[in-house]
Amino acid sequence: MEKYIVVIGGVLSGVGKGIATASIGKILNEYGYKTTGIKIDPYINYDAGTLRPTEHGEVWVTNDGGEIDQDLGSYERFLGIDIPKQNNITTGQVYKAIIDRERKGEYLGETVQFIPHVPNEIKNRIRAASKDYDITVIEIGGTVGDYENIPFLFAVKGMEREFGKENLMYVLITYMPIPSHIGEMKTKPTQQAIKLLQENGIIPDIILCRGKEPLDDVRRKKIETYANIKREFVISAPDIKIVYEVPVNFERENLGKKILTKLNLKPQKEPNWEKWNSRLNNIRNPSTSSRIGMVGKYLDIGEFSLRDAYVSINEALVHAGTALGIKPKIEWIDSKEIEQQGTKMLENYDGIIIPGGFGTTGIEGKIKAIQYVRENKISFLGLCLGMQLAAVEYARNVCKLKGAHSEEIDSNTQYPIITLLPSQQKAMRESLYGGTMRLGAYAACIKRGTLVYKLYKKEGRIKEDMKKSLEPYRLGKFPQPQTANRKPQTEYIIERHRHRYELSPEFEKTLEDAGLIFSGHHHRLDGVKLAEFLELPEHPFFVGTQAHPEFRSRFLSPAPLFLGFLLATKR
Ligand code: GLN
Repeated sequence: MEKYIVVIGGVLSGVGKGIATASIGKILNEYGYKTTGIKIDPYINYDAGTLRPTEHGEVWVTNDGGEIDQDLGSYERFLGIDIPKQNNITTGQVYKAIIDRERKGEYLGETVQFIPHVPNEIKNRIRAASKDYDITVIEIGGTVGDYENIPFLFAVKGMEREFGKENLMYVLITYMPIPSHIGEMKTKPTQQAIKLLQENGIIPDIILCRGKEPLDDVRRKKIETYANIKREFVISAPDIKIVYEVPVNFERENLGKKILTKLNLKPQKEPNWEKWNSRLNNIRNPSTSSRIGMVGKYLDIGEFSLRDAYVSINEALVHAGTALGIKPKIEWIDSKEIEQQGTKMLENYDGIIIPGGFGTTGIEGKIKAIQYVRENKISFLGLCLGMQLAAVEYARNVCKLKGAHSEEIDSNTQYPIITLLPSQQKAMRESLYGGTMRLGAYAACIKRGTLVYKLYKKEGRIKEDMKKSLEPYRLGKFPQPQTANRKPQTEYIIERHRHRYELSPEFEKTLEDAGLIFSGHHHRLDGVKLAEFLELPEHPFFVGTQAHPEFRSRFLSPAPLFLGFLLATKR
């Protein structure tokens, strides 16, 4: 029987439910259970693809091309597994499935109603996503008491009845404020959250108390009495600096064993936190630090939402930093300012990243920044848009193709280095805005001898056995052996994508003749080869990729390009 843990928030959102969910998953993993996570988003959007990243945080991209909630990214980073898009359930998906079915006449004249059809659809989706796992941690977005959560709470309550209480448990995550004029921690909001939960028939098995400070005995007692749960199931979760500390902190309160008891399970193995802890030590005591500039268009956003909008890149840098003992100090540089004030502000950075992006704002500033780091041999990593602009910069300033550009920004450019390929144009013409991107994991054949090859090889991320892992990825075609006894070059890597434009195959040779190296290509079945990586020999580190390697970086397994980049910043 599969087991389920439902994580529900009380009091406020934004108190780290996603990290708590990921941490619970990681702990159970350490006890030998195959664990995954599901995120329920009660909004009506079908997925996060069209949500504003500066408001909702980054859009997370899965191997199978889902554009989903960023919490799924936390689960992958902690658990080190690939999680498919079906693990993000939204109200929009639930209703759309039901209405589609109704239109097809599949309900055979039945009245389609909120109960039972909506909770049933939710249950089916949860079961489908948890099929291959021992334990599934389900995080319900928002907080208890939100109107839009009602169907989901109803559905999990139904699962509890169907599967039995020993197979489904609830974790309530609350927040204990310390109002400044009182100066002490208040439990009242938590008491109210417990009450709200009980109105849905749900009694929490474990309460995780987030707060600025640890929970003291008096308050633990108060919650114990109010919620009627034993004090050992009231867990203190004070603020921490590093999110990866959360699972080991939880384990200090024996959370793993407490959960297993509730689920009637025994540890399958003794947890081993050695590698995890040693990485944590590296973050706490780095041997050096690097100043990293992230050049983007950030006007009027504010630092907090910035961190959220680029969470995967931040985390990828942290992962690489913990492996190397380098603390990445990230600073946001508005490319508009470079346009106005020039590149002098880039002087003191050890490395520059140009992250992905859409639209025309601040593009010239980014191109100037790339020229500066290329000429001054400052480490550079271009991600998606960052790689596209690196090619444009090279075309303009080295190949002397005046006015070279990406068609996304200048549709009349004489030298469309970055272009919409005919297949993408067709998709744009025919479809609505959604559904026109190259999304999800794609394979790229990597050229031996290149820096990119070395970096992926070192991390064991080059695959050779195509047949084994063919299924989930758009692998395309692989180059065939040129002579009978020569081994075909089937060495490839997998990265995730989210973009519409591509480097135009027509300009590759011109750029290459001028010194740029394209270190890897995706070979499409129709024969088109799409450049996935570029690099510049004779430069300490100048690498661009059309992919988003930050989506495959994990705490214990950092992304090769981020490792290479960060190491090169150590001057
Ligand atoms: N706007 C570019 C494109 O659509 C790059 C997208 C990105 O950086 N994710 O191709």
